Amino acid sequence: MSIQTKLFDQSKNLVPGGVHSPVRSFKGLNQTPIFFKSAKGAYFKDVEDKEYIDFCMSFGPLILGHKNEQVEKKLKEALSRGWSYGACEPYSLDLAKLLTDKIPHIEQIRFVNSGTEAVMTALRLARGYTGKNKIIKFNGCYHGHVDSMLIKAGSGLAGTSESSSAGVPSGVSEDTLILELNDLNKVEQCFEEHKGQIAAIIIEPLPANNGLLIQDKEFLESLRTITKDNDALLIFDEVISGLRVAFGGMAEKLGITPDIVTYGKVIGGGLPVGAIASTKKIMSSLAPLGDVYQAGTLSANPLAMVGGFETLKNLDKNFYETLDEYTSKIVKIFEKWLKEFDGGKFSNLKISSFGSLFWICSKENLKSADKIPANLGEDFKELFDTLISKGIYLAPNGYEVGFVSIAHDLQVQEDLEKRLWD
Ligand SMILES: *Cc1c(COP(=O)(O)O)cnc(C)c1O
Repeated sequence: MSIQTKLFDQSKNLVPGGVHSPVRSFKGLNQTPIFFKSAKGAYFKDVEDKEYIDFCMSFGPLILGHKNEQVEKKLKEALSRGWSYGACEPYSLDLAKLLTDKIPHIEQIRFVNSGTEAVMTALRLARGYTGKNKIIKFNGCYHGHVDSMLIKAGSGLAGTSESSSAGVPSGVSEDTLILELNDLNKVEQCFEEHKGQIAAIIIEPLPANNGLLIQDKEFLESLRTITKDNDALLIFDEVISGLRVAFGGMAEKLGITPDIVTYGKVIGGGLPVGAIASTKKIMSSLAPLGDVYQAGTLSANPLAMVGGFETLKNLDKNFYETLDEYTSKIVKIFEKWLKEFDGGKFSNLKISSFGSLFWICSKENLKSADKIPANLGEDFKELFDTLISKGIYLAPNGYEVGFVSIAHDLQVQEDLEKRLWD
């Protein structure tokens, strides 16, 4: 029995399904999860000393690559000072100031510990601020494991919804209205049908959790207009896109100003940080100023704040240009290989890409989740196995996107080419 299978067996005994997050389970794949022990730059190593080029990057946070030296140095210094006070500290000010200075549409921010927590707070804030209950969510957008976001379109009447997880009561799903992406008519109808009851639309402005479903700018602009017209808020969930496609995320990229933004992933540079941000007016509804309660024992943890700040301070215009250039080179390398490898075995697969994200699927330019081919999992299984054997790691699920970091430089790109064709 390999070390990997032994560890997984032990883990299955201790932890449900052997994993602490279901997407790590390699469900639907031919192999059991790989256990990793160390990492540097664009590479990580499993417990059997096999090295992989990592295109998952902890599902996005590691925009500088693994174990960046400068971040490591500052984290060690932070560690030597102490790692939790449960009181005010100066380190979160650096991060808050950097973010509010560089992102014009946010005046205030509050740090939490995960993207899920950020979304949960954003929804409560939107409801508290508007005094309304209903939230529009789009099929195929992931907003963390918040009860009211674990909702899918109902199988019965059009516009109905039901929970997509056991343990979410129907009372919770009633206030979530599910629509398809890229269908403005449905959004208009929904506002008509639920007049005066919709607190907010929440959307990933770059949906990247269920394939990469790049939206038309016009669709997002229309959401901005219709929310304004109906006294509802527009929440951009930029947990993936924020600080990754540009410092100010898709809002900056498209010049669309949401009312509330949620951040996660890159914002902590690999340490647990999430955040919600908005105008002073909206943020003052949060406790202790306002009557929307929110709190956190470990919020703005001093280590995590330093990890985030030391990561984000590198992200200037040049940085994003280089990162996007690396990504298009990597996409080209993969595309050529997919077309030609083993007599065209993977030639049905194509790559969609935006900024430093890419997604492999048999269809391109998809804008809504209902168009994703049903055999995606089957296509992916074989591709994943082949890449693993070559020491190339993608997130272990065909619906997940690939992430490129600034450590995926020319040398790594050459190595990728070599590994692919070997
Ligand atoms: C990852 C993600 C979340 C959840 O964040 P966690 O830190 O995993 O709780 C929420 N929204 C989006 C858009 C995400 O990509």
